[in-house]
Amino acid sequence: MANKPYTSIDGVPAIMPIDWRGWKSSPTTRKMTDTQVGIAFKSLLLQWELGSIPRDAWQLAKDIQSNFNTTLKFLQTYSKLFVCRNCADSWSEADCKCGESYAEGRLKSSKHENFSIDVNSGLPLGTTGYDRIGKDQTRKDKNSDPPKPEPPTLEPENPAPEQGKPEPESPVSNPDDPVLKLVHDVWRLLGKPSEYKNGETFKRWFDLIEPKVKAHTLEYVRRVLTYAIHENEFFQSGLKVARNKGQDPVEYLVTEKWVNIESALEVAESKAKRKKQVAASGGKERVQGSYSMKKFGEGGIK
Ligand SMILES: [Zn+2]
Repeated sequence: MANKPYTSIDGVPAIMPIDWRGWKSSPTTRKMTDTQVGIAFKSLLLQWELGSIPRDAWQLAKDIQSNFNTTLKFLQTYSKLFVCRNCADSWSEADCKCGESYAEGRLKSSKHENFSIDVNSGLPLGTTGYDRIGKDQTRKDKNSDPPKPEPPTLEPENPAPEQGKPEPESPVSNPDDPVLKLVHDVWRLLGKPSEYKNGETFKRWFDLIEPKVKAHTLEYVRRVLTYAIHENEFFQSGLKVARNKGQDPVEYLVTEKWVNIESALEVAESKAKRKKQVAASGGKERVQGSYSMKKFGEGGIK
């Protein structure tokens, strides 16, 4: 409980943080009418629950039980508040330039999304999204510096019970390819969904995963994916939402959420390490630091 201040209901944390100081001081929110504040707040609630909100103003109005014209006006006036989930481009009453359609596309408040990741990963609020560029750069440098040797044997972490069931055939030429084996393991981790049990999907996953393996190591990629699929509630529920919307789960993990998963895993592992050290020294576990206010970004609920 000490590490998880927010209980989870159906995979959604029961308490939603608001950057009250940012809200109060933001010129954007100060301009809003009470009705617009209501739309903004209900949209944040919806995003907290589902991870995103509809791009289609009519659908959004319906989902938050608001008036269509008022909702449309809100999106037109504050088009930078909820941005394209994929490319973070401002809202427009059309398909996004990244390909997200108007009817099916989704929006997000980036700041709120970062809060979700923090809460769901047990990170102090304000961690995700803070100095993201600098952090990624450090990580990249760290990874590219000493080339890690490949382990000689690559045992899958969660070998499925073999019952003489043939694996789905794959168009990738070498069946002993370690990346292909990882692809099969990912499919098992996902619960062996029958809709993805075909060579075409496996080839697509192979193409998504292979560059990550080349940039890191096979074991690292396996660890990141296992963590997201098996251990982290936030990414698990994100996967569920993505799949319900017809998005490919591996594309969701590798293309959309990779950096977030890496950050969360990094923190989870260093936390586990610290816990071990505390336990080993016989000391009492320290109370988690509270919100680090200086990390909150300036301005509205972007
Ligand atoms: Zn877009």
